[in-house]
Amino acid sequence: MRILVIGAVAAGTSAAAKARRNTEDAEIVIYEKDNYISYSGCGMPYFLGGEVIDGKDLTPREPLFFKTKYNVDILIRHEVLSIDKEKKTLEVKNLKTGNVFTDHYDKLIIATGARSVIPPIKGKEKEHVFSLRNIGDMYKIKKFIDEKNPKKAVIVGTGFIGLELTENFKNIGIDVTLVEMLPQVTPGLDSDMAIYVEKALEKYGVLVITRNSANEIKDDKVILADNREVEADIVIIATGVRPNVDLAVNAGIKLGSLGAIAVNSKMETSEKDIYAAGDCIEQFHLVTGKPVYRPLGSTANKTGRIAGNNAAGGELEFRGILGTGIFKVFSLTVAQTGLTEKEALKEGYDISVSHNIKPNKPEYFGGKDMVIKSIADRNSGRLLGVEIVGEEGVDKRIDVFATLITFGAKVSDLVHLDLAYAPPFSTTKDPVMYTGMIQDNAIYGGRPLITTAKLDELISSGVKYNLIDTRVKKQYDEKHIETAENKPHEVVRNEIEDLDKDAIIITYCNKGTTGNAVQNILINKGFEKVYNISGGHKTFVKYVENKKKET
Ligand SMILES: Cc1cc2nc3c(=O)[nH]c(=O)nc-3n(C[C@H](O)[C@H](O)[C@H](O)COP(=O)(O)OP(=O)(O)OC[C@H]3O[C@@H](n4cnc5c(N)ncnc54)[C@H](O)[C@@H]3O)c2cc1C
Repeated sequence: MRILVIGAVAAGTSAAAKARRNTEDAEIVIYEKDNYISYSGCGMPYFLGGEVIDGKDLTPREPLFFKTKYNVDILIRHEVLSIDKEKKTLEVKNLKTGNVFTDHYDKLIIATGARSVIPPIKGKEKEHVFSLRNIGDMYKIKKFIDEKNPKKAVIVGTGFIGLELTENFKNIGIDVTLVEMLPQVTPGLDSDMAIYVEKALEKYGVLVITRNSANEIKDDKVILADNREVEADIVIIATGVRPNVDLAVNAGIKLGSLGAIAVNSKMETSEKDIYAAGDCIEQFHLVTGKPVYRPLGSTANKTGRIAGNNAAGGELEFRGILGTGIFKVFSLTVAQTGLTEKEALKEGYDISVSHNIKPNKPEYFGGKDMVIKSIADRNSGRLLGVEIVGEEGVDKRIDVFATLITFGAKVSDLVHLDLAYAPPFSTTKDPVMYTGMIQDNAIYGGRPLITTAKLDELISSGVKYNLIDTRVKKQYDEKHIETAENKPHEVVRNEIEDLDKDAIIITYCNKGTTGNAVQNILINKGFEKVYNISGGHKTFVKYVENKKKET
């Protein structure tokens, strides 16, 4: 049995190692066209920012390690030119000698990954323009920074790679302007959450230009689509990646609807004895069951392991992904799992949306607020997706939510979780549980929420409504929603007679809790149409900031 693997980063090496764990009888060979193997691409921005001092820490494994530990041969600087699926052979070029030879496989695993998308920008080939996909790219950028000492960068694209680079460039004294084609940064988030990221970037002195694109790169500046000029002595294109599927396509292997290699749950491609894993494949979404392309190291390792297991005669199946992702940008942690509001609406779900603003631990212990946006299906009560931005404790909560969604939890299940509590770590009711309580109350407890976007629609529809600011007068006087009247929580019971029982009533406070308390009073007094603003005035303010950007 001879197992050949193409590509030696996350998926390819995971596949080979797992295949070897399952059998000592197979010959296992990986062909890798690059110089580097099994590296941590995810650590590259931090090497450029100086947090990782030695680049070698990101490439801890040599081919010799795999040979001695796993009896796997990794041939670097060997490019696979073609696959002959009838003869079960690969045509391989040794890039050091130029020699081309043929190798035979019984099982083949394609782990060719992805490459950066470079839009057709005039000047993109200039020596100060880079993308960051692999270790070679990283060292090229590092050399340029060391030799040319750039002071102003334009980063095109605001996905996690663009934003991680932004922070790391700022850390080494390079000023950054971000250019994004869409109206918001972090395209993977809903706009009401992305605005927190944008404001954090601005706070740290990053100029963010949305709804614009780079048209031309000159030696010292970038010309944008609206002719605006931005000074730049280094330019990074971080506009996403595209799966490496040429080999597969030329061999007649089927692609999925999103343009990556189609595989079943066993990582089998359309062709017998050929498996694929990692960034070159399409996965399917655990919530929708539909194909999704989310190229991430976490998934590449898992799918690689399954492909290796099955190529060596095993029977593992992949259960799909939620697209769970997390990144840090300055003091903020940004995380997402499952469906966003936008995606859930596109899928046709009747959704309940909540914004829950809670500290990660008691304020007396230095707790810091995080904003948790959750999306649930009104019909089934199932949690569909969560987005979180905050300074501390975001990583722990997003993983709890990812676990909950994986196992199909309903919002009412969240309330029953026996989560760990002590002041240094959490609040007595963890923010995850509050999310469940709010959603459970909204869907089943007759305490509906209204998002700021829906409130805006309602206000402009001309429907009769009463907007009640339930905060103390001082807070109301500082800032309130234009059409709101002030009825602080403490007095509302005495002023109930002033309210019209037939009108829609909307309550709010700063974050949502007191608004809900007043909502409870009114509903318990017989009012029927009472909504509380999801995330309160704080969320409304972010909505207004977003709206201002649009005009
Ligand atoms: C800057 C950066 C930060 C990241 N941060 C994170 C993070 O925080 N979390 C996370 O989950 N993911 C992160 N990722 C994504 C993660 O690195 C990738 O998902 C992961 O590397 C994919 O692994 P892979 O093995 O599928 O593909 P790749 O890493 O793309 O490796 C594929 C390999 O195949 C080789 N190859 C291709 N064609 C051939 C051929 N014909 N012959 C021989 N060899 C070939 C390529 O040279 C390449 O080395 C980050 C990526 C980058 C660039």
